[in-house]
Amino acid sequence: MIDEQANVNTATAAGLHIVAKPAGPSCNLECDYCFYLEKQSLYDPGKNFRMPDVVLAAFIRSYIEAQPTPVVEFVWQGGEPTLLGIDFFERVIELQRPFTRIKTITNSLQTNGTLLTDAWGRFLKQHNFMVGISLDGPREVHDRYRRNRHGGGSFDAVMRGLKLLQKHAVEYNVMASVAREAAKQPLEVYRFFKQEGVEFIQFVPIIERLPATAEQQSGLKLAGPSALDRHELNTEVTPWTVIPEEYGDFLIAIYEEWVRNDVGKTFVMNFEWALNAWIGNPSPVCIHAKQCGRSMVIEHNGDLFACDHYVYPQYRLGNILGDDLPAMAARSLQTGFGTNKESALPGWCRECEVLVACQGGCPKHRFAQSHYGESGLHYLCPGYNKFFRHIRKYLHAMATLLGHGMPVTEVMKAIDGPLLVRLGPEATNEKNGRTAID
Ligand code: SF4
Ligand code: SF4
Repeated sequence: MIDEQANVNTATAAGLHIVAKPAGPSCNLECDYCFYLEKQSLYDPGKNFRMPDVVLAAFIRSYIEAQPTPVVEFVWQGGEPTLLGIDFFERVIELQRPFTRIKTITNSLQTNGTLLTDAWGRFLKQHNFMVGISLDGPREVHDRYRRNRHGGGSFDAVMRGLKLLQKHAVEYNVMASVAREAAKQPLEVYRFFKQEGVEFIQFVPIIERLPATAEQQSGLKLAGPSALDRHELNTEVTPWTVIPEEYGDFLIAIYEEWVRNDVGKTFVMNFEWALNAWIGNPSPVCIHAKQCGRSMVIEHNGDLFACDHYVYPQYRLGNILGDDLPAMAARSLQTGFGTNKESALPGWCRECEVLVACQGGCPKHRFAQSHYGESGLHYLCPGYNKFFRHIRKYLHAMATLLGHGMPVTEVMKAIDGPLLVRLGPEATNEKNGRTAID
């Protein structure tokens, strides 16, 4: 199972975005920190889930027909979607094929990588799948939480999967979960990825609350969004949850190494998003977007939910077999969920100097209190704040470079000197043709 993936809207930014879970929460691993395994309790615990053909066909048709954009992006996630075998995805391609005359269709697959084979490699390459592979870092970091059902580590199997992707030249990125211990080893994690030839990395902080008494009684091991806490808000987090300041330090340590050596070579999506926000573009990732609601989830049986973090009965929008997709997306439950992210921002965030990059983070994890005593502050606020404030000078320099039509890689030349960015001769309004980073 992938841990958690920030929902990234790219090609379908103007349309609907749905993450499909064709194997539901079924997974061949049992990662300790996984928040999705316990979704089995919503369906038939212990069962291996598989999206029936009738649901798959209805989803593919309605999803494509609902898009106003020329590009339709399918994202296959889990649980572990490769459990379904290549034949399931061959059927996906077959069902999509009639629509390729009118739309450009892309597919992404998020996998733990352990079941990949040469046959998978050939298939994924042939059909241009973009693969996200979950790998947390070197063996001791990865195996701490990413374990199989017998408690053994999955590192060797994932590395085999990574090598297969590289061998078959499949486009891929690494999704690295940052649990409490991993946050203490930023450079070991980052250098490991570089050494393994990884060019695209996304860091995902692990945050889970322990459930309040009422939720415990219903058998849940993890708390849901605070909005669903009926009686009490338990703010105690799991032992693997990252410590906020340490998450900020983790990103800062990697950023400092990256901005000196790797700009334009290694793409850390968290850094790309920050620059993107700084130059005034809408965030491509929901956690740092102003509003939620643009990325829903379809479960194996066709149930549609508000988002990957809100797969709870209270946020079920309908079912693809009986309900119209655009109508489900337009339900007030969904639109209210979307706008609430912005409208519920605490005053502390509204006054924050780095709001443009942060936007208050994911509502599921807004269970801290602000310095004004308001509830609804993001748990990671001290870490987000530290990180975004730290990199502001670099973001400013890169934005200046871009504004002068220069590549952001120039920022690396400036850092080992007097923290100056040399501008081109046309930049006559800058002092000495230079602009300071600090
Ligand atoms: S850094 Fe903290 S205060 Fe600022 S926007 Fe993010 S969560 Fe809110
Ligand atoms: S609740 Fe909002 S920010 Fe959080 S994962 Fe869902 S869409 Fe993204």
